[in-house]
Amino acid sequence: MSVLITGGAGFIGSHLVDHLLAETDHQVVVLDDFSTGSASNLAHLDTDRLETVDGDVRNGSLVADLVADADAVYHLAAAVGVKTIVENPLESMRTNLEGTENVLEAAASDVTPTFIASSSEVYGKSEAVPFAEEDDRVYGSTTSPRWGYATAKAADEFLALGFHNERDLPVVVGRYFNIVGPRQTGQYGMVIPTFVEQALAGDDLTVYGDGTQTRSFTHVEDAVSITHDLLTTSDAHDDVFNVGAPGPTSINDLAKRVIELTGSDSDITHIPFEEAYDEDFEEPDEREPDVSKLRDVLGQSPTADLDWILRDVIDERTDEVID
Ligand code: NAD
Repeated sequence: MSVLITGGAGFIGSHLVDHLLAETDHQVVVLDDFSTGSASNLAHLDTDRLETVDGDVRNGSLVADLVADADAVYHLAAAVGVKTIVENPLESMRTNLEGTENVLEAAASDVTPTFIASSSEVYGKSEAVPFAEEDDRVYGSTTSPRWGYATAKAADEFLALGFHNERDLPVVVGRYFNIVGPRQTGQYGMVIPTFVEQALAGDDLTVYGDGTQTRSFTHVEDAVSITHDLLTTSDAHDDVFNVGAPGPTSINDLAKRVIELTGSDSDITHIPFEEAYDEDFEEPDEREPDVSKLRDVLGQSPTADLDWILRDVIDERTDEVID
């Protein structure tokens, strides 16, 4: 069996490659343009079961050729991260809309089961935590570029479900909630790698806003295992699932725990969102998944273990973790 992973050189994608190579005997083909991903994420893998193709998901004929040879597709390639979306709104929208449509169109030709990576961002600034999959979405104006990512991911979900309804494509959508772990870069505004790098350098940890906003963090190993299970469980097909661990942490508490675990002398500095992004920027206060649906269908959900995540991220960057 051969599996295509778009975005497989990225953070989550490369862990999914690891997982599939370890847990199955599949051939794995990665399509990635290495814009935010990196060959170094796959460099530890020395196997003829892995092939990497340098290309763009917006290239419809390339996607069609690769999907035609695949028995299953995981579509993770996307313009990712609030910073990327705010700084490059046009490219981000095009990648996240055209890329997904290309993948679904190609998969529909051979009825190839497909996983589509979506995001907790689709809930927007809804305050109805914890978020269940059928809940309403609440978005800001189109003049605030931050909502472009949520809108594109929601459109991807509509496309996926439309391809199921009209073209019988077996498809499953996973809404990732703050997936974290080794190989994630802080370069694009991700909070945990940024805090760990600041703490290890002895710099102040920069918390945006007053730091009381909460997030639910999920270890990437849990996320890729659930991703694989969702696509290989037919009861999960043609539906949307939260992929995240319940158990929110405030950004202030996160910063304090990073300082404790690294044994750093760093302080915490608060920076207004308007200074970090722009004056239209809106940041939701809370994000927590309702995982009942995931538990019903898979009999499991990710574990909320912040220290596991932090220790792994710190470990990757230093030999010494303080207990
Ligand atoms: P990532 O940036 O590490 O991975 C994205 C990958 O897609 C990268 O390897 C990048 O090079 C590749 N890519 C980007 N544009 C491309 C294009 N036009 N053609 C081919 N490849 C392209 O980010 P990630 O965190 O691993 O995200 C993977 C997926 O999960 C994305 O769809 C993202 O929207 C979704 N997601 C992630 C999180 C999270 O917490 N990390 C949360 C919600 C959703």
